[in-house]
Amino acid sequence: MDPFVLLLGLAAAAGDIVGGAVVTAPRRIGDRTLSLLIALGAGNLLGVSLLELIPETIAETGPIAGALILAGYLFIHFFEHVFAPHFHFGEETHGAAVVDTHVTSTALIGLGLHALMDGIAIGAAFVTSPGLGVLVFAAIMLHKLPEGFTIASVMKAAGTTRRWAFGASALLAVATFAGVLASAVLGEIAPYLLAIATGSVLYVGATDLMSEANKEEGILNPIMVFIGVGMFFAVLGLVRFVGIEV
Ligand SMILES: [Zn+2]
Ligand SMILES: [Zn+2]
Repeated sequence: MDPFVLLLGLAAAAGDIVGGAVVTAPRRIGDRTLSLLIALGAGNLLGVSLLELIPETIAETGPIAGALILAGYLFIHFFEHVFAPHFHFGEETHGAAVVDTHVTSTALIGLGLHALMDGIAIGAAFVTSPGLGVLVFAAIMLHKLPEGFTIASVMKAAGTTRRWAFGASALLAVATFAGVLASAVLGEIAPYLLAIATGSVLYVGATDLMSEANKEEGILNPIMVFIGVGMFFAVLGLVRFVGIEV
């Protein structure tokens, strides 16, 4: 196993922990910063999913790619929105909706599986080609801080202690790293895992993050989505510039 992929996994996992720490810290960063990160992440994930991951998985797995991508998309949809009765990205402000512990545990399981797929996407993309792994990592990294923030704020809204709120974001970090590790170990089925994870990250970018980005008033957030797509091209150029094959 390439130690570089473990480094990417650790960095992505750290994003969840930093996000959780932000919620539990006495001095918090502004909601505006988080919502701009969410919009940037949406655009960047859209770029990497449609321009790199989908063509790559079709080339690697053949006609079954479409079904696997759809399965990954519906997997996240099910666990975040059917299984978890109240879940959305960003700060949890509907206190009454989450005081029931059932809501916090289902949100944690839903977002935990989502984080696992984030990790699988990074690991399986890296196995396919290190350059692709770096592109997927960069796109996923942008929403890791808001992700840790989201789960910690759900816990906080439900009235749990700071330690539990932080612990929930640490659990997402563990799930992310486990996904990277699993897909790096299961190298032979990596193309199929990548196809499923492609559907998952497409859901995260085009559905979860995009809808959250568009909740904000004004045009700054919608414009940030375009900048996020531009960032994808910038990272692609940088990866090629340093001579990593994509
Ligand atoms: Zn809510
Ligand atoms: Zn995520």
